[in-house]
Amino acid sequence: MRVAERLGLAHVSTGEMFRQHVADGTDLGMKVDAIMKSGDLVPDELTIAMLEERITHDDAAGGYILDGFPRTLTQAQALDEHLGANGLDAVVVLDVAEEELVGRMMSRGRKDDTEESIRNRLRVYAADTMPLIAFYAARDIVASVDGVGELDDITVRILSVIEGGSGGGQNRTV
Ligand code: AMP
Repeated sequence: MRVAERLGLAHVSTGEMFRQHVADGTDLGMKVDAIMKSGDLVPDELTIAMLEERITHDDAAGGYILDGFPRTLTQAQALDEHLGANGLDAVVVLDVAEEELVGRMMSRGRKDDTEESIRNRLRVYAADTMPLIAFYAARDIVASVDGVGELDDITVRILSVIEGGSGGGQNRTV
């Protein structure tokens, strides 16, 4: 969010979008509510369709920060098909130790932040999302950033790796 604001890009968070659907009681919201509470991933086809529609909005025309997407190889491949294989400029991986992550999630008070769902999210991350780091590293667009510390400091670190990166293009993912 802060990074998108600083760069004047749209902030596209699939988690936020799903939470909005749940709050609005849409059909999609009703489908994903229990999945989110368990810490599992929403099925790829629902997530990809929602994301692809979102990035056609006017505010995304000048570029966007993807937050929490892609989380699976299928999502990454769909994004490649949608954007072309050079569609992403940078992938930022925030490095945070597991115990610190659990502590942070437990204290932010989100409905889906029970200890059990958090542990499940970490398992799902390791199994389904971590392989994406190698997928994008093969394109040399991955930067790891220390995700521990003050938000302002972490924001500066992220901005410096994005701005120091390849430049020119407009789609970034965190
Ligand atoms: P987040 O706000 O990014 O932590 O996402 C909250 C929840 O939304 C996740 O635990 C998943 O259930 C769901 N979700 C968000 N993004 C995705 C995604 N890219 N693929 C599948 N499920 C997602």
